[in-house]
Amino acid sequence: MKIIALSVFTLLYFHTNAQDISYNHKIVDTLTSPYFWGRGYTKDGMKKAANFLSAEFKNAGLQPLDNKDFLQKFSFPANTFPGKMEVEVNGKKLVPGVDYIVGADNHSAKTKCKLEQKDSVTFIDAANKIVVKLENKLTWSAAQTQEDYNLIQLDKKRFTELPKNIKIHIEAKLIKKFEAANVCAMVAGTQKPDSFIFITAHYDHLGGMGNETYFPGANDNASGVALLLSLAKYYAAHPQKYSIGFILFAAEEIGLLGSKYYTEHPIVPLKNIRFLTNTDLAGTGEEGITVVNATVFAKEFALMNKINDDNKYLVSIGARGKAANSDHYWFTEKGVPSFFFYTKGGISAYHDVFDKAATLPLNEQADLMQLMIKFNEGLQLLNR
Ligand SMILES: [Zn+2]
Repeated sequence: MKIIALSVFTLLYFHTNAQDISYNHKIVDTLTSPYFWGRGYTKDGMKKAANFLSAEFKNAGLQPLDNKDFLQKFSFPANTFPGKMEVEVNGKKLVPGVDYIVGADNHSAKTKCKLEQKDSVTFIDAANKIVVKLENKLTWSAAQTQEDYNLIQLDKKRFTELPKNIKIHIEAKLIKKFEAANVCAMVAGTQKPDSFIFITAHYDHLGGMGNETYFPGANDNASGVALLLSLAKYYAAHPQKYSIGFILFAAEEIGLLGSKYYTEHPIVPLKNIRFLTNTDLAGTGEEGITVVNATVFAKEFALMNKINDDNKYLVSIGARGKAANSDHYWFTEKGVPSFFFYTKGGISAYHDVFDKAATLPLNEQADLMQLMIKFNEGLQLLNR
């Protein structure tokens, strides 16, 4: 009886332990709330997120990577949309984010004009420098400049007639020195504190398009931040032989600027990094993950696959070569061995207002966490 009771307890304990990702959900819910306004360029969204994340590191018992401050500050130009965002087509008022998006590099404009059709999807007013395009999917971005022409992209599915006239009122503001910060923390190693394994993820997203619409960025990349923070908590409680470093980058969406700044101003010498794993889009995983740089670092990729095969965490781990598609890129360029992985399958919302916490499953976060823990253990034993 006793033995049975004990094994039931053990089973339950490990089951709940492996499946408990309530913290990860809390982080994604928090970071996607209106307070953080899409962790971008208006309403202090990015700054509020940086402060929140510093506090999470501190509460988890981590120390700043430079021993003084979790924030590594830098600045860059950013185009922002802090105010009015109104578009009418054929006399009908449109819903920002749902019916349309504006070009990330648009400037302020208040005008009403007739459109001339250029092809099946392009309509322009040359005098007012307005281009209207019909798109199959609205995908927003961020820009460091303002351009001459203003672009308005319309979701084709929501229009039964062609756009003939347009009325716009957009308030844009180019900020020459937008101030942002990477959030950097560490857990000191017990045997080789000068050797580091890094885990990184960007916490910024696209921010707001006008003062009523923001892009929550649940999968991109509140999900990766949640995974990173849960690993930070784990390592704070279980220090490793090597030091474990964590960087939450700012300004990824505007051109990988946070990671670029870090590699140009490294807090820990880049040559001391044994390996870096970057996670960006970690909220699904029905079809497993894809690993960028898998073919470049074959030994490490074999290690990750062996761990996954032995433990059956993910249905598949796909391999890709080099790609400049997230923050690992600058590290790879400077000779730091690194992977970038993203989850596959499930929802397809991307850089749009539908990338929300409520529809993001986070179904592989517990598995990804275990995979990363074992992978990082293996790295400390693996000869290069
Ligand atoms: Zn991203």
